[in-house]
Amino acid sequence: MADNGNVRKVYEILEKQLNQPLKTALEVCARCGICAEACHYYVSEPKVEHVPAYRAEQVRKIYRKKYNFFGKYIPSLVNAEELDEQKFNELVEMAFSECTLCRRCTFNCPLGVDTPLVMRVVRAMATASGKAPEILVMLADSAIAKGENPEIFKEMFIQQVSELEKELKELTGNPNAKIPVEKEGARVLYVGLAGAHTIIPPAIIFNEVGEDWTLSIYEAANYGVFLGDVERAKKIAKRIIDEAKRLKVQEVIVAECGHACNALVWEAPNWFAEKFPFRVRSIVELVAEYIQSGKLKVNPEANSEPVTYHDSCNLARAGGILKEPRLILQAVVKDFREMTPNGLENYCCGGGGGLVALPEYYEKRMRAGKPKAEQIRKTKAKIVAAACENCKLQLNDLNNYYNLGVEVKGLVDLVANAILYNRQKISANENQQANVST
Ligand code: SF4
Ligand code: SF4
Repeated sequence: MADNGNVRKVYEILEKQLNQPLKTALEVCARCGICAEACHYYVSEPKVEHVPAYRAEQVRKIYRKKYNFFGKYIPSLVNAEELDEQKFNELVEMAFSECTLCRRCTFNCPLGVDTPLVMRVVRAMATASGKAPEILVMLADSAIAKGENPEIFKEMFIQQVSELEKELKELTGNPNAKIPVEKEGARVLYVGLAGAHTIIPPAIIFNEVGEDWTLSIYEAANYGVFLGDVERAKKIAKRIIDEAKRLKVQEVIVAECGHACNALVWEAPNWFAEKFPFRVRSIVELVAEYIQSGKLKVNPEANSEPVTYHDSCNLARAGGILKEPRLILQAVVKDFREMTPNGLENYCCGGGGGLVALPEYYEKRMRAGKPKAEQIRKTKAKIVAAACENCKLQLNDLNNYYNLGVEVKGLVDLVANAILYNRQKISANENQQANVST
């Protein structure tokens, strides 16, 4: 590699992250090829570069050069290679545009080889040597800056929320409906994403069940995760953790977002080696609980068109959130149709790992999403529900690219619709009864 400083950085990151799971991923592979069919890239374009084991092997080569005895002295014997600029650029391109970190290969590998972990390390190497996609770095850094200077944007945010509150009152016909911000002692801190569409439907749900909640001033998205940069990811997560501690909430509820859930629910306790004084869950889990306990009254007639559900890789494979979305859908839609395969075996939509934020990879991302588009078409559904913002963006793009003729919605959108419909029905019945009795 031309720049020795970069080589040093790359190996430093490898050294730093070389824990037992990574060593295992770099040393174990039976070369059976079973993982090929597991990867949506390979399914849509079957070529050797799209086999997960091939991807990991490119990193194993440079790993062996440094950490294997024969790799150091007789590299050809163990397929070891020196890292050079071109090779590193290829690795970076592969890790950011040809692997969505979906984990389907790991689930299907008889040895459980964690190829996405290897790809994450390449992302970390790219970030440390200034080769990560600029947009991802910028998004991560602006989230960090927001955490460092919350006062700058807080006033504007509160003003925007008061506008949303007016909209909420109108939609629900409830003059007492509220979107509280910075409410100390609230039971729930809800963390949305950029955009009113991640605030209004949950607000309808929370107001309907009479939840004691407050809205976070931050967004749940964590681009540090996509960069493989734990330090940045920790800073982004810490803003919300500190806010939850300051407000003394009992639960942090994360918006419909796979990677944000992954970061806050499963990764953050490890990053901070801390048991937080509050529970952290996805809104999908909380809404399923409301429905199961009978707290939330909904009417499935509100969503009468056939609906299918796309399992976000982060929620389903990484988080095991499989029953909850189905429980919600059975309650709020009339005709729910599963895709095949689904749940743990679901195909990635092709937009994960931060890819939807990278316009330069649009064509690649559309090609990689072909298996998902075919799955959707086969269900003949008119609505595709998903509980992840990145998935929804990708599904919308796939809808246009492959002419699927569907509408993409969040689970919370369908729930909010079923609540509003139920309310209308109840008040129509009351009016009818009042008319009869007069
Ligand atoms: S399925 Fe597992 S063991 Fe087989 S080639 Fe793929 S990564 Fe290697
Ligand atoms: S994590 Fe997903 S995208 Fe990456 S290699 Fe495995 S199956 Fe392919």
